[in-house]
Amino acid sequence: MDNKKVHELVDANFDDMLKDLSDLIRVPSVLDESARTEEHPFGPRVTEALDKFLATAAGLGFRTANIDNMAGYAELGDGPLFGVLAHLDVMPSGSAANWHFPPFDATAANGRLYGRGTSDDKGPAVSALYAIKALGDSGARLARRFRVIVGLDEESGFRCIERYKKTEEIPEMSFSPDADFPVVNAEKGILRFVLRKSMSNMDAMGIPELVDIRGGDRFNIVPDELAIFFRGAAAANLETLLMPHGAEIANTGNGTLVTFRGKSAHAMAPQEGDNAIQKFLGAVEELDFGPPALHVALLELWSLFGRETDGASLGIAASDEVSGRLSCNLAAISFDDGALSVKCDVRYPVTCDGDAIIENIKKSAARVNWTLDAPKHSRPLYVPPDTRLVKTLLEAYEAVTGEHGAPVSIGGGTYCKALPNAVSFGAMFPGEEETAHQPDEYIGLDSLRKMTHIYAEALCMFNK
Ligand SMILES: [Zn+2]
Repeated sequence: MDNKKVHELVDANFDDMLKDLSDLIRVPSVLDESARTEEHPFGPRVTEALDKFLATAAGLGFRTANIDNMAGYAELGDGPLFGVLAHLDVMPSGSAANWHFPPFDATAANGRLYGRGTSDDKGPAVSALYAIKALGDSGARLARRFRVIVGLDEESGFRCIERYKKTEEIPEMSFSPDADFPVVNAEKGILRFVLRKSMSNMDAMGIPELVDIRGGDRFNIVPDELAIFFRGAAAANLETLLMPHGAEIANTGNGTLVTFRGKSAHAMAPQEGDNAIQKFLGAVEELDFGPPALHVALLELWSLFGRETDGASLGIAASDEVSGRLSCNLAAISFDDGALSVKCDVRYPVTCDGDAIIENIKKSAARVNWTLDAPKHSRPLYVPPDTRLVKTLLEAYEAVTGEHGAPVSIGGGTYCKALPNAVSFGAMFPGEEETAHQPDEYIGLDSLRKMTHIYAEALCMFNK
């Protein structure tokens, strides 16, 4: 490796870095809407994490700024702006009983540092800060302003970075240490929408015994259960009809509960799951329960979604070389206030036109008289592999690890989408156990050291 002095400083400062990280882990910076005030838009504990981070950075010689307690930054150097986009808010710990270590303390054990935020994303944020410091202390002239931007509600929406963008300078290029090594340079576009059909004429159909249809909840999860509840006893042949579809039928005393079970998976890879709603829709042709209007509406859904996960029935199947096939997750179904509605999560390839896909969904839905609610649209991210940003980051990764680094494409949704010309760079190494958002979240001490060397190496390369 070049830049010997910088790497020596990374090692020399490692214990200080651990101490600063540990102090930060001890602040339970979970979004707290109930404690939010004008001064503390995400709750006072989140502000406290920002204060601590900025005070640490100032102590290391950085210029710092607090942006309305929603975001902040620490910066060193002169010249064009280079960004590192991280976040200091963390997910709730869940039940402490599921942890072997206190979630909001930093416990070193087994060569790891345990605690909420160690890997997502306080550890990588502090690592990047110390990488910049090493470069600054090495005596090299800084030809750029290296800025760690920290957001405070990454886990619950990107209000933090939206606030940053309103008044602060946008870096020429950035990386975010909040996903995976080597480099994630392609993220699919994401469309989240609701299809709805009013069934208000149902009572007039004279068969009001259906009480509920419910399956799935979150857009990004393949539903593993669907339940239908209706009053009265099951038709005698219901069991025979549903058996081949693997449904369970139970008499609950005041009605009949039919349950379809599948297997959940992330909406990025719906083909790895088994969608309970689609399973149910496949059985609808043989079922005759509930009002005919509802039966028809379910058959229409079947015609729109079928059993596949590539959006073929919806008329939106597509693929490209960079990011693969479009994926379509029929995420939830519910029957409320006289309307049947479904939630859907579509991830489309980076070279596709998202607006055209929306138009196609609208058309397919309109054909069977379903309406599409305004979709939430997160456009794809793609920074080609031959750009300076991607090439340099991969070079730095290879220089430190000695391993070949190829750019990676994912189903989308990282923090990088918030900034132009930004890619994810770490902090998980290939093959590492993912513990973000889970009990016993940890960061390996070797990994923490290695990522800091990689970040330092990359910054050296950009400092030219
Ligand atoms: Zn994160």
